[in-house]
Amino acid sequence: MTETILDLHEIQGAEERVRRIFSGDALTADGGDQYAVLDTVTLDLRVRKDGAKYTLVGRLDGVLELACCRCLEPVRQIVGVEVDLLYLPSSENTGDGDVQIEESDLSTAFYRDEQIDLGRLMHEQFQLSLPMKPLCREECQGLCAVCGGNRNATKCDCEETWVDPRLAGLKSLLDQ
Ligand SMILES: [Zn+2]
Ligand SMILES: [Zn+2]
Repeated sequence: MTETILDLHEIQGAEERVRRIFSGDALTADGGDQYAVLDTVTLDLRVRKDGAKYTLVGRLDGVLELACCRCLEPVRQIVGVEVDLLYLPSSENTGDGDVQIEESDLSTAFYRDEQIDLGRLMHEQFQLSLPMKPLCREECQGLCAVCGGNRNATKCDCEETWVDPRLAGLKSLLDQ
């Protein structure tokens, strides 16, 4: 398992390239997540050091598995995210003094103990990149509201009677 912590002591020059490949297992987060990580994830960054500030610019590439919002079947999603983040020491996040950072500013993050948590970085970038309503296919039929069956796989009877009640009436006439 590749370490998800970036030790800032490693950044000796003004700019260093940090390229790491993580296994999906190392990044599969706790149950609350809307995605699972498939395969490996590549993080390729240039880390620029300016005093206590670090700018991380590069790419994050991986394959995620989401649940289709209609039928709940797994959906593979290839994700390529442009990363452009500014990291400040967490001591500057106190809210007083002249360095005040809006929490809503998604491109600014904080590090502490000379460490940047790349696992958290990747998690946040993935979250931001996910579609609001993932679909297994554009024309996904979803689940039957009556029996809960997957209508992409099977046409259930409850669906037929629901779709056109007039046909059902005709059918009962013919049955007589
Ligand atoms: Zn679906
Ligand atoms: Zn049904």
